[in-house]
Amino acid sequence: LPPALEVLDLKKHFVTRKTLLGKPDRVVRAVDGVSFHVARGQTLGVVGESGCGKSTTARLLMHLIEPDAGRIRLHGREYGNVGGLKPVSELRQRMQMVFQDSYASLNPRLTIEDSIAFGPRIQGQSRSESRQLARDLLDQVGLNPDSFIRRYPHELSGGQRQRVNIARALAMKPEIMVLDEAVSALDKSVQAQVLNLLSDLKRDFELTYLFISHDLNVVQYISDHVVVMYLGQVVEFGPVAQIYEQPAHPYTRALLDAVPAQTPNSRKAHTVLEGDPPNPIDPPAGCRFHPRCPFAEPICAEREPVPVRVRPEQESACHMVAPQSGHSRHLTMIPL
Ligand code: SF4
Ligand code: MG
Repeated sequence: LPPALEVLDLKKHFVTRKTLLGKPDRVVRAVDGVSFHVARGQTLGVVGESGCGKSTTARLLMHLIEPDAGRIRLHGREYGNVGGLKPVSELRQRMQMVFQDSYASLNPRLTIEDSIAFGPRIQGQSRSESRQLARDLLDQVGLNPDSFIRRYPHELSGGQRQRVNIARALAMKPEIMVLDEAVSALDKSVQAQVLNLLSDLKRDFELTYLFISHDLNVVQYISDHVVVMYLGQVVEFGPVAQIYEQPAHPYTRALLDAVPAQTPNSRKAHTVLEGDPPNPIDPPAGCRFHPRCPFAEPICAEREPVPVRVRPEQESACHMVAPQSGHSRHLTMIPL
């Protein structure tokens, strides 16, 4: 069975405007050869610092930004703006997105009913049908239809608005939901409720999730597999428990070490993530992490590492990681 979503070698480079003093244009390699796949019914977490290309990747998938290159397949069928491929309009229906800012994604002049029913009405659904759909979906996302259907977005809390955004996405009957920092703006307790809701909806509607977040605790909670991105590239991929317990890539280790401890002393405080913050303009040659990597060797500045399988299902793009064995002379030396 082909994966629900398959992304192959996705690329997007931006060119910055000519700067003062005739400096040449500079290329921002926002997304630079990203590949991953998600099995049906699974959640793939996407993590990395801001600027790593997570959100751009999501927008490229939806063709909200046109990719320079790459293939996007849903259940084995390829979509794109090229003859012979399935049309992007269908892709945008089968994949729905929920963003971080719950208010910005809703039209402030539309009632909750009209917000949820908007897409289906455009597709020709009758007013009574789409009203019933909006009522059913409000119920599904835990909001009482009678008290919410006539309200406007500003009358709702952030958590309630995000539930409406989820209902609005579900109204399009998607197979895949792209959740870009969808719970990041919510208080911890509301966050937990919305995460539980997302888990229930995934089961009830047989959905597949792409869950983008900078919050490693949340990603660990909701994901089956994880992609770790650094400067527009995937540096590690694998099952969530394996990635969190046995990260092979130095950047993944550094990210996990930087997670605030849930309990005091539960993690040793390492200060691995030193050096300049990542900047996708003119990224470093070789391994892009080499200026910040404590294990860098001369080869790291010269040659770009390719992903190798370190354990079943786990891949890591690092020169110092030995294929299949999952350890190396350097990386086994630091305790986690
Ligand atoms: Fe560090 Fe080299 Fe591995 Fe890059 S390839 S993560 S610089 S050890
Ligand atoms: Mg983002």
